[in-house]
This record gives sequence, C-alpha cells and structure tokens, in this order.
Amino acid sequence: MKFVLDAHTHTIASGHAYSTLLENVNYVAEKGLELIGITDHAPAMEGSFGSAYFINFGVIPREINGVKVRMGVELNIIDYDGNVDLPDFYLERMDYAIASLHPPCIPFGTLEQNMNAIFKVMENKYVKILGHPGDPRYPIDCEALVKKSAETGTLIEINNASLVPNGFRGGSEKYIFDILKLCKKMEVPVIAASDAHFCTHIGDFTYVEKMFEQAEFPEELVVNRSVEEFEKYITK
Ligand SMILES: [Zn+2]
Ligand SMILES: [Zn+2]
Repeated sequence: MKFVLDAHTHTIASGHAYSTLLENVNYVAEKGLELIGITDHAPAMEGSFGSAYFINFGVIPREINGVKVRMGVELNIIDYDGNVDLPDFYLERMDYAIASLHPPCIPFGTLEQNMNAIFKVMENKYVKILGHPGDPRYPIDCEALVKKSAETGTLIEINNASLVPNGFRGGSEKYIFDILKLCKKMEVPVIAASDAHFCTHIGDFTYVEKMFEQAEFPEELVVNRSVEEFEKYITK
C-alpha cells in the first residue's frame, strides 16, 4: 500500500534525535509523502526541550514545500493512573498528542498496572494515538487494548522502530501480531509510524509492512492511506 503520511517523528528538540524540523520536512518533500507529524518527547524525557518548546507552535506554517505539517508531542505516561507530562493548557493548543510508556519515565509495570495506565491515557481527549504498544517490558492485554481503541477512537500505533531487529523494544513483534489479528477481526483501524530519530528514517515502514503481510491486514484499516482519514482522528 502507499503510505501518504508519517505522524510520529522526532527532531533535535527530543535531545536524542539528530535532525531539525526543516530537515525532516524537506526529506519528506523529497520522498513524496503528503503529511508529516512532528512529535518531540515531552519534558519528562531526559534531554528533551522544556515545556516552553511546546507553546509556540503557532509560528510554524502548516504547509512547507508542499508538505502538510502537524505539530504535536509524544507524551510520557508518568504513572499508572495515566497522567502525562504536559498539562492540558499545552495540549489544547497543539494539533494532537501521542502518549507512550518509556523507561525511565515510568517503571516497567505489571500487566494490570500497564493496562490501567493505558486505559486512562486513552480516555484523555487530547491523546489521539497510543505510541508503540507491544514493548514486552510493559506487558499488555491485547484484546482489552483493541476493544478500548474501538470505544475511545484512540488509534493504536504500529511502530516501525519497535520491529527493527535488535532495536530498543526487541520482542515487540509477538504483541504487534496479536494486536493486528484482533484489529482485523474487530475492524479497528491502526496507524503506522516510523518514530524516526533521524530524517532518513521518516516514512520507512519496512518492518510494519512485513507485519501487515503476515497478519493479512486489510489496507482499509490503515489510517496512513489518506490524509483525510488521519485528520478525522486527530480532530475528533
Ligand atoms: Zn516513544
Ligand atoms: Zn517517538
């Protein structure tokens, strides 16, 4: 399938990523994607820019070199009640938020603790995407997760970086395969994302595509096929 957008990318503002916003956008323009989402890590991640970075997105044009640009954040879930590291004041002024479980921002929880955190964050109206579920260090109940996504409309992300061999979230594929099988059965859409920390990884869905093939996942349940479809989810 043709992926027209990548909604999860990082810039130097994350502290451990190495391209600027404009380098990301220009790479995407060259590659031919229609839309990029810039989602730097929120302040609880060591080395990320402080909260002030997230307040001035109004100055950034939402179209640059023919590419639609959306400005968001990758929030850190900081406790098992699903609290995140930027207040609503910031979230209501940006285009959308992703929320994810990351060490060291939250310890590896039990299945119950992780699911509680995930459910609560999916009920947060500013969180449109649950970032990279399936990290085996944070065990989850895939069926409960997919049901919750159907209920709240919060998209489950299928993260290419989680599937890179010997990557930081090695072992994610088992959960991701189960999530895809369940989403297919229950007709729940997902979003694919690169989670690029350098511009040349943006729009690289190599491993996601392999998983889609293995799970025989239907194209019409992949939000990346259309900007319009994506916008429906982030503006709902
Ligand atoms: Zn992340
Ligand atoms: Zn990320």
